[in-house]
Amino acid sequence: MSRREVIAAGAVLVAAPFAVGKPNEAHAAPADEAVGEGPFPTRAYGAPNATGPLGPIAIERRALGPADVLLDVLYCGICHSDIHQARDEWSTWNPTKYPCVPGHEVIGRVRAVGKAVTKFRVGDVGGVGCLVDSCGTCESCVTDREQHCTKRATFTYNSPDAQSGGHTSGGYSDTMVVPEHFVIRIPPGADLAAMAPLLCAGITTFSPMQHWKLTAGQRVGVIGLGGLGHMAVKLAVARKADVTVFTTSPGKLDDAKRLGAKEAILSTDAEAMKRLAGSFELLISTVPRAFPMQAFLSVLKTDGTLVNVGAMEALEGVGGIDLVHGRKSLAGSMIGGIAETQEVIDYCVARGIKADVELIGVEDINRAYDRVVKKDVRYRFVIDMASLKGRKES
Ligand SMILES: [Zn+2]
Ligand SMILES: [Zn+2]
Repeated sequence: MSRREVIAAGAVLVAAPFAVGKPNEAHAAPADEAVGEGPFPTRAYGAPNATGPLGPIAIERRALGPADVLLDVLYCGICHSDIHQARDEWSTWNPTKYPCVPGHEVIGRVRAVGKAVTKFRVGDVGGVGCLVDSCGTCESCVTDREQHCTKRATFTYNSPDAQSGGHTSGGYSDTMVVPEHFVIRIPPGADLAAMAPLLCAGITTFSPMQHWKLTAGQRVGVIGLGGLGHMAVKLAVARKADVTVFTTSPGKLDDAKRLGAKEAILSTDAEAMKRLAGSFELLISTVPRAFPMQAFLSVLKTDGTLVNVGAMEALEGVGGIDLVHGRKSLAGSMIGGIAETQEVIDYCVARGIKADVELIGVEDINRAYDRVVKKDVRYRFVIDMASLKGRKES
């Protein structure tokens, strides 16, 4: 019986041998008998307000429900969304509740499981991306698009928490309690720190390639070469697509090619933009803020699509004429459902695809934020959460 069947039937979850995949034994560690069922006092790192630096914060994770997994967080990526949220830069549509504990690229080891959990055993490694709950019954949920749940998609941080009240807190913390459905299996042998960014940056760029069916030989343009952009390049190259990177950073042109792009050009290079007119089936814009997209519509082929995954503000300067000529589409895409997130993890592990990461301690988070804003990261900061466990209680 699947989660959605359980929810649809209104069944009470009990320990039962549901048909699910094998637990992931290679990461097995001894069970911690003393852990109990919570609630769990948790050390976290978060923002007290929109302007203050992030610092240590004590939070509590709810008691383990029958379908919940308790994770000891090992690694957490730093996504540009974390910075937008911590600094309340999305106040017009998603104001930040404080204290704000960001982090939605989480890798953790299972320390305890609820009575009805079948997907994980103590000692397994699991991943948590941007979603930690949804209604399970709406049209989006029953078609594996939980991120678009029409009733109550619960995001990993700054989302109303239907189970505990208040708002959710993310992975800059030493534990998390998450329903097993929303925990992704991490296959044995994976490079755990380099897996973390796949849970947001990876799925966010993989999902549009799946939806718009990017195939070998097609031309795809990746706009912006940051955390998302560098994953987009790797994932598109793996599909044998012909990849062009558009960047505003001259220092990233060589990197784009190292990552597998056939061509890398400066977005300000009007000559190159003219030469590339009508070239691309698909463009994925990973730039984390609005920018004039008009010029990019001209490099799409007839019936091509420009997918925005980064900018949340009003999009500037898009003329209707630029869409009707060539039947072009300007589309958006947000992360991916749980099944698709599992798919990108499995896909990457099978092919040895990893994020390029710079490992840091919690004490470096504020400096890392400033460097992300200055585009000075190659290409994802990942927090080693052992550095939080090593800290004295604040
Ligand atoms: Zn993210
Ligand atoms: Zn739903």
